[in-house]
Amino acid sequence: MAINEGGLLENQVGERLIVAITDVQKKEFQGKVQLHTSDISTIDINPACQQFHKLQKWFTTKKQKGLIEELLIIKMFENTQKINLEDVIQNRQSLKEGALYYFIGTVDMIENKSKPSYDACQNCTRSVIQTNDGVECKSCSDAQIVQRYRLTLNIIQGTATATDTLFEDAATVYIGCSVNDYIQSTAEDEKSSKYFRDLETISNKQYKFLIQLDEKSTNTR
Ligand SMILES: [Zn+2]
Repeated sequence: MAINEGGLLENQVGERLIVAITDVQKKEFQGKVQLHTSDISTIDINPACQQFHKLQKWFTTKKQKGLIEELLIIKMFENTQKINLEDVIQNRQSLKEGALYYFIGTVDMIENKSKPSYDACQNCTRSVIQTNDGVECKSCSDAQIVQRYRLTLNIIQGTATATDTLFEDAATVYIGCSVNDYIQSTAEDEKSSKYFRDLETISNKQYKFLIQLDEKSTNTR
């Protein structure tokens, strides 16, 4: 899935993609709304649903980019209501738990372009910790390290900001290559990496963010 979508993304870098976020938690910091993901959050760029794939195929064969994007947006958002990020705090009571909403936000900055990955356990993908004996995964007894994406985006809309993290699949689609290819491409000089440069220009683009609030998201940590 990631490979095909990575190719698709190359054609779409800087264009309007669909980002789906579930199970976010909200925080308020210095009067600004922030959305935070947790272990159970899912973030999906161009979510894998049948309608989407059908349109995606059409897109790649017909190259009717503008039209397809419009159709994608209509399909994915036809049952969702547009909100503002501020509504999550100020009009929280008017939003339904579990319902899908969307907001149009700008990716203001990608925080960790230089190090968008973490030391992950090959078995369970959790973060591994370094010990005197090597590495240790808290769930697996015998951990092998691999790199996995953890890309932090700052999203703004009006006075509200949201911080979101794209993990492996979503980040692969967003960046357009595997984490190992990214690391390799930036190893000597990150500015010489096409993917790194794309991440610099990808910011300040607008995206539609699909959002689902649940009971947990009402608790401020
Ligand atoms: Zn593990």
